[in-house]
Amino acid sequence: MNIPMLDLSEQYQALKEEMLVALDQVMSSSRFILGDNVKKLEADVAEYSHVAHGIGCGNGSDAIHIALQAAGVGPGDEVITTAFTFFATGGSIVRAGATPVYVDIDPVTFNIDPAKIEEAITDKTKAIIPVHLYGQTADMEEICKIADKHNLVVIGDAAQAIGAKHHGKTVAEYGTAATYSFFPTKNLGAYGDAGMIVTNNDEVAENCRVIRVHGSKPKYYHHVLGYNSRLDELQAAVLNVKFPHLNKWSELRREKAAVYTHLLNEQLGDLVKTPVEKEGNYHVFHQYTIRVEKRDELQAFLKEQGVQTMIYYPLPLHIQPVFKDLGYKEGDLPEAEKAAKEAVSLPMFPELKQEQQEYIVAKIKEFYNK
Ligand SMILES: *Cc1c(COP(=O)(O)O)cnc(C)c1O
Repeated sequence: MNIPMLDLSEQYQALKEEMLVALDQVMSSSRFILGDNVKKLEADVAEYSHVAHGIGCGNGSDAIHIALQAAGVGPGDEVITTAFTFFATGGSIVRAGATPVYVDIDPVTFNIDPAKIEEAITDKTKAIIPVHLYGQTADMEEICKIADKHNLVVIGDAAQAIGAKHHGKTVAEYGTAATYSFFPTKNLGAYGDAGMIVTNNDEVAENCRVIRVHGSKPKYYHHVLGYNSRLDELQAAVLNVKFPHLNKWSELRREKAAVYTHLLNEQLGDLVKTPVEKEGNYHVFHQYTIRVEKRDELQAFLKEQGVQTMIYYPLPLHIQPVFKDLGYKEGDLPEAEKAAKEAVSLPMFPELKQEQQEYIVAKIKEFYNK
């Protein structure tokens, strides 16, 4: 068998007719930037997130950068975030002119450990960026309590977590704003780059709208520095076709996750640590990530057997070469460093078949029985 991490072909075939009509409508209209498709998507995603505003932008990295700037975070400010995330979380903080302060993770959820946030707060701390990694929300109740106490901005990086819930609330209902990525591999993926900021804060929303068009307000008058970061009509049209299916896809991801967990626990017991959905969370399983010993050998073996896996992420941000001037060293954030050596993500997408999952688990078992 040959099983990729993600196979989008079946999804495209199911949506093809509708998709081609939607794309043709955009091209026939000759309106390509910030038109009706973007407006519709912004309204639908905001409503879905239970907040007042959605502001489309170029990608999920820009969404974080724009949200930070819109919330008044900039040079001289420190922003606390997790070390165990995709590079864009830290990179966007630096692009906004601020300094990232990396905090260790809860080894069970892979998300920022709220118990370690307070000791990282200084006079310069302005914001916290929790990341809802793999599709499970961070502990937002605790994080927002700390943020309120210290008067901090909270921007949730929900690039992997559209549709995830925490005690019944969406990722956007906590803190100042949340950001989504519609990169093609995300749970709601465009056919290119796209992103969005969602917020209930009118002022932050208006700032985001201005920043994404070069800080222009009124047109050709610039009071703040912005850039060109817009969601285009073609991508919005693609996302409008896909969006009505999102909840069904999340449910299917959860079903696949339950199948993996059942098979792995039954057949491998303690050899594999399966994902834990914390009480009160609705995990949308952007990734199904396990922890194992001999991770790299397992990955090489599975590759030989036709099973693609991915390491998200092999090097935590605090020890990335580009951040060496921040002064961190190996050993500073032991849980993030350990996760980077043990975590491996298995193929996960709504169309994954039970036979494929059985094959993957059988091969993992074969590896550890050798
Ligand atoms: C994908 C991702 C981003 C960046 O999104 P892009 O649309 O690729 O710019 C940011 N943070 C996390 C956690 C991500 O997974």
